[in-house]
Amino acid sequence: MIRFALVSGFFLSLFSVSAGSLQAGAGDGRLDIYFVDVEGGAATVIVTPQGESMLIDSGYPDFGGRDRDRILDVLQNVAKLEQLDHAVVSHWHLDHFGNHASIAAKFKVVNFLDRGIPDSLGEDPGFADRVAPYRSASQNRSKTLKAGDVVPLKSGTTPIGMQVVTASGEVIANRGEVNPFASQHVPQPEDTSDNAKSISLLLTFGKFRFLCCGDLTWNTEAKLMMPNNPLGQIDLFMATHHGLNASNNPVMVLALDPRVCVTCNGPTKGANPETIATLKKVKSLQAMYQLHRNVLLEEKDQAPVANIANMAETAKCTGTWVKASVAKDGKNYTVQIGPEGTAKTFETR
Ligand SMILES: [Zn+2]
Repeated sequence: MIRFALVSGFFLSLFSVSAGSLQAGAGDGRLDIYFVDVEGGAATVIVTPQGESMLIDSGYPDFGGRDRDRILDVLQNVAKLEQLDHAVVSHWHLDHFGNHASIAAKFKVVNFLDRGIPDSLGEDPGFADRVAPYRSASQNRSKTLKAGDVVPLKSGTTPIGMQVVTASGEVIANRGEVNPFASQHVPQPEDTSDNAKSISLLLTFGKFRFLCCGDLTWNTEAKLMMPNNPLGQIDLFMATHHGLNASNNPVMVLALDPRVCVTCNGPTKGANPETIATLKKVKSLQAMYQLHRNVLLEEKDQAPVANIANMAETAKCTGTWVKASVAKDGKNYTVQIGPEGTAKTFETR
């Protein structure tokens, strides 16, 4: 059972009130989640029935604006938004904050949310320069998210909630039922990179539950999920850290027991065999999607071809997205690949 912390007036006051972009989502009452293909980075767009929008991470900054343009296409042409209400950085690696500034240069962004901007980053000597455009786009007024915070999203008839469950290495209180998989934890060497400090967000819409953990790594996953499971079971899981095996600790993945999983991998990054093996062990898993074929793996060792959005190598890739769309009462959801894809329906657990 999740107990959402009460939103303090102080925290609420940090958020600019926006009218939302009433185009998208509005009308059909559905909550949409787009996993944009950024070739092994991450970029997830959420649009609520109220037309409120969030981008979690923004892909790589180079390659001639490739990832920026793919994200803008979803925001402007697919979701038909008029502005982006919340732009989140899960952590300070370039495949996650690479285009926040360049998107903001072309499209109105209302709130910037992150884990706090460090002065320096051990693994990236050029970080101060790299983060400068973000500082300037956010006018140095980005909001710091901490574990236990609630991101206030507007609800309609079906309540929407978003809780920060990890940030800056901290995790929410370890309440809940005992995690039956806790004894399977085998610690990895300490991860001193910013991955371990990723923001993780749990989105709820009625009974529907979606979890997105950025690049959170193994030992922090265990810290969150041991000895008790404070998150319970979820419906839709974005495989953590592009499906790399430095993340997706079975202690977490098996306890979450998702029904559907989407891995935001690239042709040669992520969707590792160990992660896929863990996902295949998930008791309730009904479908596994990948943004890319892992060109290093055999067909039988990854998601079925019908569930892979992009089969080509990066040079020839058209960047097809995966979309999950939750019914207005939250009781079921569809997943489809690209605008022409067939939508498969899944019941909310
Ligand atoms: Zn990453």
